Amino acid sequence: MLIQGGLVYTNGAFVERDIETEGGVIRSLGTGLEGDDVFDARGFVVVPGFVNAHTHLSMSLLRGAGDDMPLHSWLNDRIWPLEASLSYEDCYWGSLFGIVEMLKTGTTCFNDMYFHMDATIRAVKEAGIRAAITHAVIDLGDEKKAQTELQESSRIHRMCRNEKRISYMMGPHAPYTCSEAFLLQIKEYARAHGIKTHIHLSETRKEVEDMEQEHSMTPAGYLDSLSFLDEETICAHGVHLTPEDIKLLSSRGCSIVHCPQSNLKLSSGIAPLPQMRDASINIALGTDGAASNNSLSMIQETKCMALIHKLQGATEVPASTAFSIATRGGGKALGLPVGELAPGYNADMAFIDASHFSMRPSHSLISNLVYSLQEEAIRHVMVDGTFVLRDRELTMVDEKSITEKASEHANALVELIG
Ligand SMILES: [Zn+2]
Repeated sequence: MLIQGGLVYTNGAFVERDIETEGGVIRSLGTGLEGDDVFDARGFVVVPGFVNAHTHLSMSLLRGAGDDMPLHSWLNDRIWPLEASLSYEDCYWGSLFGIVEMLKTGTTCFNDMYFHMDATIRAVKEAGIRAAITHAVIDLGDEKKAQTELQESSRIHRMCRNEKRISYMMGPHAPYTCSEAFLLQIKEYARAHGIKTHIHLSETRKEVEDMEQEHSMTPAGYLDSLSFLDEETICAHGVHLTPEDIKLLSSRGCSIVHCPQSNLKLSSGIAPLPQMRDASINIALGTDGAASNNSLSMIQETKCMALIHKLQGATEVPASTAFSIATRGGGKALGLPVGELAPGYNADMAFIDASHFSMRPSHSLISNLVYSLQEEAIRHVMVDGTFVLRDRELTMVDEKSITEKASEHANALVELIG
């Protein structure tokens, strides 16, 4: 396909370019390119799709089912009892429901960590989005559970192997929910198969204090003592990292997924993003689940990130940095050719109506993208060279029936628990 005449964001600048794609991949960018299958992109700002680098997609069913609580009581008293009743069908409709929101807000790739991942894989295949899939595992020291979860991880991993738009990662939930032996087995599997590991890290002060009491180490120090940290490790949150933790994570080449809105809502704190960036850590951005956000919109997440760090100074996280973290940072963390519009990258992009009020005046388009963009301005979204959103309508799945079915499942779930 030839995407002609758009104002394309590439290499940190907006330039009028044609984009040639083939087999779902960007072949070239140029001017005056010719081809048969032409899409007229004049009047659009064309940007790489957002990469939501940490979420729990099916939790979109639990949006609003437990608000205004701190993380540990939110998990223990509300979320874990609800999650215990989740079925395959719940997760299938919950995943589709979450994908609707992501595609309509310009996200083309996400990194999920949850259960019933076969249901999420089915939803991803049907809706046309790109995903990294992580089957979340917890053993709490139960060796039998550890073995069952490793087998399930391996089963889901096999399901992802031949899927063009789906990759797989190992997903130990957190250092405080997985035993040392289990963490070692998980890392061994990941290294043997050349895949990444995705883990929550230092999300709350309590997590850090408990770990220091039990092991006299921070969670990052503890993982490093198990030789767990490496370039293939993606740590979600990192709210309560010490300066030594930051140095350590930088030296091991880990990526950190910043989830500012979830951290604010659960009163967990604000991750030290400027310090992490100073230490050259690759930073990605994630919404976390919709039960703790309560949205999956990366438009909102990106703006929130750019704003909260201004508490440290008005020049922290300027718009271009924020947009780069939300796109390129995610692609780098996930190890996928996404988050940039350049030859060799996947043809995953959003077409933004340049005449929409939220994109005008056009003194600074990057500023508009981060500080004023409204989702209605995102007219079309392409994943893997295929339009999955066209004129604000999803092309592969039906938004109305998904919203109705997801609401039915969500209501039944909450009624069951009371
Ligand atoms: Zn999370």
